[in-house]
Amino acid sequence: METRVPSTMRAMTLEEFGKPLVERTIPVPEVGPNDALVRIRACGVCGTDLKITAGKLNFVKTPHIPGHEPAGEVVAVGSDVRGVQVGDHVAVAIYLNCGECDYCRTGREQICPHLRGRVGFTIDGAYADYLRVPSTALRVVAPDVPFEDIALLGDCITTAWNAISVRADVREGQWVYMTGAGGIGLHAIQLAKLRGARVIAVDVDDEKLSLARRFGADLTLNALAEDVVARTRETVGGDGVDAAIDFVVTQSALDADFAVLRPDGAVILVGYNPDGPSLVRTMDIALSEFRLIGSRASGLRELDEMIKMIEERRIKPVVGRTYALEEVNQALDDLRNNRVIGRAVVVP
Ligand SMILES: [Zn+2]
Ligand SMILES: [Zn+2]
Repeated sequence: METRVPSTMRAMTLEEFGKPLVERTIPVPEVGPNDALVRIRACGVCGTDLKITAGKLNFVKTPHIPGHEPAGEVVAVGSDVRGVQVGDHVAVAIYLNCGECDYCRTGREQICPHLRGRVGFTIDGAYADYLRVPSTALRVVAPDVPFEDIALLGDCITTAWNAISVRADVREGQWVYMTGAGGIGLHAIQLAKLRGARVIAVDVDDEKLSLARRFGADLTLNALAEDVVARTRETVGGDGVDAAIDFVVTQSALDADFAVLRPDGAVILVGYNPDGPSLVRTMDIALSEFRLIGSRASGLRELDEMIKMIEERRIKPVVGRTYALEEVNQALDDLRNNRVIGRAVVVP
């Protein structure tokens, strides 16, 4: 079953690391029996795209079409596809997992050791008019949810939810200290507040901090202007914060994470950088029984939970500027130069 699919499409391709993406006209991918073809209607622009285009992730090979936060409409399905139909509005789970290992069976598909690919990383992504994926990677979203909002679901919002609900297990009344009020951070604030926590948001940009306040942060701190550790400790009182969730992870941010923590508290690293930092205070960790926890994207369960939450309008996706497909280099430049508030979205 198909609807009006042309034979060629536009795609913004990474041909050389460190260079702008190049617009190419290429064939629309053929759909296999278990695949679906999605007409891309929006795709989030993520900080990870800057690492990909700069060549910092050694598993990404050129030529490559980045774009791992897709939202769109199903325009064709293979003969064996069940559960997804032409016309459905969909979010895409970008980790094409094996579905059989212990991690997949316990809802932690993102750390499946047998991944068949990652959309926008090891296989072509969604900075294009169309995307072919196995239909099992698709999740249907109510048609009244804007595509820009759906684009924020698959990575930006679910990554925040995995950190808050699964890895930090944030509870009512806890203090959560967050570094980075960018795309993921602004959603993490909303989600932590929904769980009844009190939130301290740290950034170096006053405009982002004012948004952080609008989305519920109880205290905001500019790390360039204030002693974030002293201000946090005097605000929280007692033994310190329960969890420090870090979306940035510079050395100074990481040092502050541990310095504000109560004994047995947890530092959750969502941000990362292949070049470091790598210095952690082993003595503090051992003597205070701190927990150092990684958090990567999310599993399918978190995606399903966030789809429901967005359909019920319980959180507000923070869409920043939108860009045309051929403007994706501009979007990446704006993100690199810290000119994006909320999540930038490409709308082909
Ligand atoms: Zn991303
Ligand atoms: Zn698996």
